[in-house]
Amino acid sequence: MMGPSHALSGAAVWLSGSWALQHFYDYEQSPLALAVGTAVCAGGALLPDLDLSGKVTRNQGGATVARTFGVFSLFVAEVVEKVSLGVYYATKLSRDPKRSNGHRTLTHTIPFTVLVGWGTTTLCARYGKWAVIGILFFMIGLALRGLFDEWAERAGWVIVTLVSAGAATFTAANLPGDRGYPMIGLAVGVGCFVHIIGDMITRAGVPILWPIPIKRRMWTPISLPDSIALRAGGKTEIVVVRTALTVVSVLAAVGLVAPSVLQKFNLDL
Ligand SMILES: [Zn+2]
Repeated sequence: MMGPSHALSGAAVWLSGSWALQHFYDYEQSPLALAVGTAVCAGGALLPDLDLSGKVTRNQGGATVARTFGVFSLFVAEVVEKVSLGVYYATKLSRDPKRSNGHRTLTHTIPFTVLVGWGTTTLCARYGKWAVIGILFFMIGLALRGLFDEWAERAGWVIVTLVSAGAATFTAANLPGDRGYPMIGLAVGVGCFVHIIGDMITRAGVPILWPIPIKRRMWTPISLPDSIALRAGGKTEIVVVRTALTVVSVLAAVGLVAPSVLQKFNLDL
């Protein structure tokens, strides 16, 4: 799956999940908390591909996500890729093949999604507003890069960085600490998980069972059989899947916001 589809699937899952929580469990969220959760989940759905490094020195290559903050994020991607490769070799068994890069290894596992979600929650709880600003800045940048890829490409990473910083500062100043903050960690974790599932249905093998050893392999790639899997970057993904995800997101957003709007104008349908 390509960057924009990953980001869109993160947004769709967060919005429909929030709708279900509100509809079935009366769990209401403020419009700001909803927007933040959606952006963070969209950004989180790009995070695992931060293991696809480009050429830092030439400012080229890398996944969508690695180009968000120009050479800075390309450098981070380089580090994440090397660390992932290190973990691959440290835990590989006799039948795991040799690899020259760490793409689709550590960051595409369940322990990674849990670690990132838990780490984010811990940072927010311990350092409060300052951690929230930093995390939101990073995640909103990723979300912008994924959801508005053409705009981000045209605007360039400096503008994306400035917009993310502005949005993060505004949010941290207005988001209540008690209910808003815990959602951030959850949104990052859910986003990462959605990414892994997205890769699995587009023929890309993902080591989702790691670290469970199977037949002397620790990094068994799991994916849908070719006959039913989507082709990454193919027409089906770009037209059908993206349209469906957009429709789901819009319907869920309308379902979430409509009741309070109707109430405001004293309309009862
Ligand atoms: Zn991926």
